[in-house]
Amino acid sequence: MRITDNILIVSVVGTILFSGCVRKPQSAREYPIRPVPFTSVKLTDNFWAPRIKKNADVTIPIAFHYCETTGRIKNFEIAGGLDTGKFQTIYPFDDSDVFKIIEGASYSLQTFPDPKLDAYLDALIYKIGLAQEADGYLYTNRTIAEKHGGEGLHEWANKKRWLNDSISSHELYNLGHLYEAAAAHYQATGKKSLLDIAIKSADLVNRDFGWDRTKVYPGHQVIEMGLVKLYRVTGDRKYLDLARFFLDVRGPHGQQYNQADLKPVDQKKAEGHAVRATYMYSGMADIAAIEEDTAYLKAITRIWEDIVGDKLYLTGGIGATGGNEGFAEPFELPNMTAYCETCASIGDIFFNHRLFLLSGQSKYIDVLEKTLYNSMLSGVSLSADRFFYPNPLESNGQHQRSAWFGCACCPSNIVRFVPAIPGYIYAVTDDALVVNLYISNDASITLGENRIAVTQKADFTRDGKVELTINPEKSRKFGLKLRIPGWARNEAIPGGLYKFEDNNDESVKLMMNGKPVQISVQDGYAVIRRKWKTGDKILLEFPMPVRKVIADQRISAARDKIAVQRGPVIYCAEWPDNNSGNVLNLMLKKDADFKAEYIPSLLQGTEVIKTSGHQTRRTLDGKVDTLADEPVTLIPYALWNNRGPGQMEVWLPTSTRSTHPLPATTIAFRSNVRASKMTKSLSAVNDQIEPADSTDKSSPFYDWWPSKDTWEWVEYDFEKPLNISRTKVYWFDDGPGGGCRIPDEWEILYLNGNIWEPVTTRSRYKVTKNDWNTLSFKPVVTKSVKIKVKLKKDFSAGIYEWIIE
Ligand SMILES: [Zn+2]
Repeated sequence: MRITDNILIVSVVGTILFSGCVRKPQSAREYPIRPVPFTSVKLTDNFWAPRIKKNADVTIPIAFHYCETTGRIKNFEIAGGLDTGKFQTIYPFDDSDVFKIIEGASYSLQTFPDPKLDAYLDALIYKIGLAQEADGYLYTNRTIAEKHGGEGLHEWANKKRWLNDSISSHELYNLGHLYEAAAAHYQATGKKSLLDIAIKSADLVNRDFGWDRTKVYPGHQVIEMGLVKLYRVTGDRKYLDLARFFLDVRGPHGQQYNQADLKPVDQKKAEGHAVRATYMYSGMADIAAIEEDTAYLKAITRIWEDIVGDKLYLTGGIGATGGNEGFAEPFELPNMTAYCETCASIGDIFFNHRLFLLSGQSKYIDVLEKTLYNSMLSGVSLSADRFFYPNPLESNGQHQRSAWFGCACCPSNIVRFVPAIPGYIYAVTDDALVVNLYISNDASITLGENRIAVTQKADFTRDGKVELTINPEKSRKFGLKLRIPGWARNEAIPGGLYKFEDNNDESVKLMMNGKPVQISVQDGYAVIRRKWKTGDKILLEFPMPVRKVIADQRISAARDKIAVQRGPVIYCAEWPDNNSGNVLNLMLKKDADFKAEYIPSLLQGTEVIKTSGHQTRRTLDGKVDTLADEPVTLIPYALWNNRGPGQMEVWLPTSTRSTHPLPATTIAFRSNVRASKMTKSLSAVNDQIEPADSTDKSSPFYDWWPSKDTWEWVEYDFEKPLNISRTKVYWFDDGPGGGCRIPDEWEILYLNGNIWEPVTTRSRYKVTKNDWNTLSFKPVVTKSVKIKVKLKKDFSAGIYEWIIE
């Protein structure tokens, strides 16, 4: 990889400002392609601009509100001696949320100047400064505990500073976010208040860590990226060296969970916790660019191939399992239990953007765009005050966005990511302007000695027409590279894990000052190289038909199903738009037409897709009936769950094999169901969806988590007395990782008059995994039957299905 010498120092998606004692590095190297900072790009579109405004008006204020009410800010006040008391919050990494929100607020201030917010940040930074110990150490949990003779030190932290960081203390994790916030705040305001705190902290870290000093690697990566930003802002090389140290000191012989089982340069597969992983890969990309390190470049390129080859969701989400909040086995991509953490989507956008800046290849932007419009965007509600932590691709109504979380990484990541989105639209090389995303904006771009005003008019995601006006200050020759997205070239997503069912013959149209131009695509870009003059106009037209997507056969969760994509947007069926709220039993018609239609009154105005399908229903003899044709409406996946919880699915069945039919009118189905813990997922117990085994996370289940060591129950009440004599139950058990196991014992009771009495058994009560546990009993006539379940001492329990005959 050749990296040019003529490099500007720019923060990745940030602005440049050098002043005072902050030095500019001499002949420093950087990414060969430089992003045009978001501060140079003013959005004028109807899709992202309103969302960025809402982030400023709604998300940032409520995020600070929760930092106040949960005690996150009080932790700084107590550590700084402004208040007294114990550590106020749950986790030692809670400091990091405050830093991330400061970072987001700093970005936001550059688009929406706000003296009140500016002053609020000043007051907050003052408190952070007081909480910093004299030698630069900043970790409110320890500082507060030391005021109480060590009492209250979090169990994840060691009595000695730093020693537990590889495992759990998150001391360096907090600091990584501090450094990112400090760079952002300095660039936004020119004030050095937070930067000075960050420098004092980083200087301590630099004194304490090194090959001849503490050789502890960060348990949760992010300080690598943070130190690179500090290096860029200060020009001080030691921060870059420290970032590299934290990568080189990592592994082998550590845990796979936090990517420490191998040296980062030797890693070939994406593994472990997905947020930690993408933050580390992004840090490695920074080192690969700045130090021209081909070993790091090779490793992250290989890892990217692994992600797109077998670990990426169609929505751009990553991380399949909740146990490790991370990557699972290849092709293990369940829908209902998909993790797809919002933070992991943001981390993957950081990673893909950096790979683009290193290589100039548009496939990385294809993944970035897919994640941006789907898995990332799903993380925040239209009202901008509700957040998803996991972003599943299927729901039975058990998922709902929350106002805040005990572990609040996702909302604070939304806060800092959204204002910076305009920074992903353009980039420059030494002699070319690159257009990566099609979003209406007015931009002022520096290309060498030239300033270029660019006006872009687009109406993504409604249609594929784009108009670009190029106004260079001086008429000069340079290249204009227009990204031709994969979806406009018959590629659903890079890597081949998902494909369009058939090819679309319509081609992309390109006009230059009213004349058609032949497109030749290089690295995913149409390149126009000419002497540009003021008023030059480009018209681009991407065909945006509705496309059917099919998955690699090795993804069992998507077998015999299709998904629907239009442009970069993935669609889903959601309960309010389809037959009385039932979605999971839908089956699409194979030959159905798909029509896109804009509905201004729906979800603040959105394109929906109309098609047709059938409901399916199980019959009493266990077969599946296909009911009459009916219309099916699909909405953009990112917009689901803005009208309350309910059924949703992205992968739509095309065969009775892959659908979840409506239950047959069995006794259980006709019953009124009650339980010791009433939750939405209770409907699982009589939905007649049989799991593959006791750990099958793709089948709905009901559980009593987090109860342990208690007696729990489920009850069926019949309309009229029935004669019953047999029952069977299928237990949920997510061991060894999860919290549920098969119970210690269970018992069937029936209502005899007003008294619950045990049935007289004719077989043994079995408690086994991976099969039905059947019990015969002496027939009784009753109006109600109850299953009582004794949970294990240290575990909860759950039921997939409970049948009465
Ligand atoms: Zn998160």
